Amino acid sequence: MSMQRIEWEKLSWSQIAELDRDATTIVIPTGAIEQHGPHLTVDTDIYNADAISRAVARNVSNQRVLVAPPIWWGTSPHHLGFPGTISLKNETFTNILMDTIASLKPHGFYRFLIVNGHGGNIGNLTASVSKIGEELGISIPALSYWQTITDVLIAVGESEIGGMGHACEMETSLALYLRPEDVDMSQAIIDMPNQPTPWSCIDFRQPGFLNIPLDLKRDSKAGIIGNPLLATKEKGETIFNAAVDRISQAISGMAHLTKRELTTSRY
Ligand SMILES: [Zn+2]
Repeated sequence: MSMQRIEWEKLSWSQIAELDRDATTIVIPTGAIEQHGPHLTVDTDIYNADAISRAVARNVSNQRVLVAPPIWWGTSPHHLGFPGTISLKNETFTNILMDTIASLKPHGFYRFLIVNGHGGNIGNLTASVSKIGEELGISIPALSYWQTITDVLIAVGESEIGGMGHACEMETSLALYLRPEDVDMSQAIIDMPNQPTPWSCIDFRQPGFLNIPLDLKRDSKAGIIGNPLLATKEKGETIFNAAVDRISQAISGMAHLTKRELTTSRY
């Protein structure tokens, strides 16, 4: 028995032609190539989004879920002070997403979900899916994986607020669970940059309502926001499984939406 493939790029055109458009959701992982402290690799954000997307694709049973080639790069201007970051302009990121959807739409695909792994993409993602709705007539839900499991992050997090910001307790735990060979804990340090205001705190559990990004080179010691020393493989497993579960539920729960509900009349 052969397992069904979940990677879009591993199918032939004839296999893609046979897909049931009404029962196929295409998940697009987005992330960043961005410095994540001296202890994590620069692919952290896209790796997590892709790994979660693949697990979701294997997990959902009421439809076929395929993972599109991940969009590796995001917008990371506030990380460019460290070597390793490759940052796209907002419009480049939008254009990659637009061109992806514009290529798939003429072949009848209309069920999409963006699974994002990089906080710095959120504003642009919102604008991008709005533009796609306007110009291509398809509604594309976009989520950031940590936003689906705020309750779990609060439950497992041991650091004070500010400890789960970037290359932190959460992201280091995920790396220890998913790929410990890529983590160098001997390089990890507690790095809690001063926040410009009490309302602009950067933490996956409780983000401030004022969005004032830090310049990591200027404001942090080593490109970290938080406390990676509290990271564990067990926390990573809990966080990963919770995100996979919630996002799977969301996709399963969208199965009843029809083409009429996910597109505008201009489709
Ligand atoms: Zn990150």
